[in-house]
Amino acid sequence: MSTQPIELNFQSYLQQAGVSAPDADLYDTCVRCGLCLESCPTYTLLDLEASSPRGRIALIRGVNEGRIPVDAPGFLKQMDQCLGCLACQAVCPSGVEYGHLLEAGRAQAKAVRPQSRMAQMIEGFVFGWLFMSLGRVRLLAVLMAVYQRTGLQWLARRLGVLKLMGMAQMEQLLPRMSSSFVKAEGQSFAPMAQATTTKRVALLTGCVQSVAFAEVHDATVHALRVNGCEVVMPQGQECCGALHAHGGDLVRAKELARRNIDALEAAKPDYVVVNAAGCSHHVKEYAHLLHDDPAYGKRAEHFVSISRDITELLAELGPKPAQTPLPWRVTYQEPCHLVHGQKVSQQPRQILSAIPGLSFVEMGESSMCCGSAGTYNILQPEIAGELLERKLNNAAATQAEVVLSANTGCMIQMRAGIAQRGMNAKVMHLVEILDAAYRQDEARM
Ligand code: SF4
Ligand code: SF4
Repeated sequence: MSTQPIELNFQSYLQQAGVSAPDADLYDTCVRCGLCLESCPTYTLLDLEASSPRGRIALIRGVNEGRIPVDAPGFLKQMDQCLGCLACQAVCPSGVEYGHLLEAGRAQAKAVRPQSRMAQMIEGFVFGWLFMSLGRVRLLAVLMAVYQRTGLQWLARRLGVLKLMGMAQMEQLLPRMSSSFVKAEGQSFAPMAQATTTKRVALLTGCVQSVAFAEVHDATVHALRVNGCEVVMPQGQECCGALHAHGGDLVRAKELARRNIDALEAAKPDYVVVNAAGCSHHVKEYAHLLHDDPAYGKRAEHFVSISRDITELLAELGPKPAQTPLPWRVTYQEPCHLVHGQKVSQQPRQILSAIPGLSFVEMGESSMCCGSAGTYNILQPEIAGELLERKLNNAAATQAEVVLSANTGCMIQMRAGIAQRGMNAKVMHLVEILDAAYRQDEARM
């Protein structure tokens, strides 16, 4: 029988922040078997029960049964220290929906955590202003591009200004801005002439992807066209809201979800496709996020039913095999939100098998988190750094010249690590390598 959460004195905080306590059924499902412990990166590194999934579930339960104060330092610490990688959820035999528990726990922690005025201002700027509008993201990206391309970045690094400001590590993670940005304005791209089937696919262009990974969008559009799809970029779409939801800001996460449903649904697509695994996972959470919204609940369910990660959709479509050999040695780093969150693991390998001449070497611990995890590598640099080292060691052991991934955050993290280590390897998105093979075929025609 479920234990009902007792009346807590922080209810007014939670109501104000639009936060609901997690359903007791979510934590009652945990039978404390510990089968998830070995798959948990923080438990693997720290060997502490509190830093394990079972320990965190016990804390969330304790808070919601009134035995642990919601502002207890141990609870707040564990809500931050968890990567949200969902490796525990993927292996749990009892089906504990850990991701939903963590989301609720983080929202509670956020509602009661004391914050300095400066931290409030930064958070308000990033989540409340910047990522609520793609126009603002593009504006900031222009400034970043100026910083990166005019020698300012070189000068700041050379003079040690960033170190003095305590921002050197964070700045290393700044992705290089694309030479042109992708702005969804209702563009439509017809399927290639030789393609046989026609599906209408709406592309969610996202925030960071649209300004720093424009080449991944180009590859996505082209690869889908080769596979018989019409691709549209509906106007009015926004950031998917994953950063907000993972940070406990569910009010804004819901607002962004509603705007994306409005914009993308209006294009009447057969599929909604997303090429960053963290975002494709979050988009599939829209039905859960909006389940109690009378106007959007049903629409969100339909939206989720047609949403696909790009690797998933290409695998569903075939994909069309390339003809010309691409003699590259490659390995694949599995994004947590693809392999654990969406259980998409074979499809990326299926895509690679469509490319002749490729030498694919499996990486050890390919599904262990690389330490990126949204803003985790900025907020928890020590654990993130240890996980990155481990990932780079595994990548180096394959002697691959290309490390493939399928998520923006992982690609940023891997590129920064590879550059710092001076490794001779390139990081690419899976769809880019398939697209490179298709373009090679076209060049030979
Ligand atoms: S989360 Fe699942 S695997 Fe982990 S202790 Fe609970 S029931 Fe066992
Ligand atoms: S989400 Fe990842 S880091 Fe967090 S408890 Fe689960 S396995 Fe551990």
